[in-house]
Amino acid sequence: MELACLDLEGVLIPEIWIKFAEKTGIEALKATTRDIPDYDELMTMRLAELDKAGLGLNEIQEVIATLSPLEGAPEFLNWLRERFQVIILSDTFYEFAGPLMKQLGYPTLLCHKLTVDEKGKVVDYNLRQANPKRQCIAAFKTLYYRTIAAGDSYNDTTMLAEADAGILFSAPRNVIDEFPQFPAVHTYEELKQAFIDASVRNLTL
Ligand SMILES: [Mg+2]
Repeated sequence: MELACLDLEGVLIPEIWIKFAEKTGIEALKATTRDIPDYDELMTMRLAELDKAGLGLNEIQEVIATLSPLEGAPEFLNWLRERFQVIILSDTFYEFAGPLMKQLGYPTLLCHKLTVDEKGKVVDYNLRQANPKRQCIAAFKTLYYRTIAAGDSYNDTTMLAEADAGILFSAPRNVIDEFPQFPAVHTYEELKQAFIDASVRNLTL
């Protein structure tokens, strides 16, 4: 059996923090790991900014519910689910992804979790495990699944390397140049073809 493992942000939905920052006008929330490489420092700052703006989980989810998946993403995901068991491996949080998952028909999603107090304030974040994307692929191997993985950024490259086949989708130039071993595609039609090419079923036809 083959599993299709997909990154979420930049592949099916926009970058949530950046879109959220644009919608709310909170400039500081546009910072990414490129600006603040220490993830703990970045998340601590984000939670402080949310608190300062008086945004609890309810308000955050209301804003995120106004976002949409990338154009063509629901159709692509349906196409993929007809052909593979699909699992989404993401570094987002369930509480953030929820409203967008609804628009994608609630595919299987493995990601992180927030801690929210009784008033709705986001007080902490809980990472699922270290190297979560790569660890999932490694675990699927122990179940004798073959994996084809696709992602758009640095945090996907260990997943792509661990998978039987890795595909870069809509990746920035520097990532494509640094990881020439992965085919790089830019449209959902090309991504479909890359999955077909990578599928073992294709080899046995
Ligand atoms: Mg991504």
